[in-house]
Amino acid sequence: MPIYEYRCESCAGKFEVLTRFAERDKAQVCPTCESTRTRVLVSSFASLTAGESSASDFASESSGGGGCCGGACGSCGSSPN
Ligand SMILES: [Zn+2]
Repeated sequence: MPIYEYRCESCAGKFEVLTRFAERDKAQVCPTCESTRTRVLVSSFASLTAGESSASDFASESSGGGGCCGGACGSCGSSPN
């Protein structure tokens, strides 16, 4: 299972959760303040229009693996599946 990074909107803390892709967009409980006002930090495809885009988040996630579009584009078409 992949690790996703979340940000807590209550305490502004970041934490990582090992979860399935299908569960990715669900709110996770912040380990710091136990708030469920959390949001996954998506970097590969900017589905959320978060006002703050961190360049470091972008770099760490884009290097993590292919599948930016399921192999439909030329840049990631080397996937066997
Ligand atoms: Zn929190």
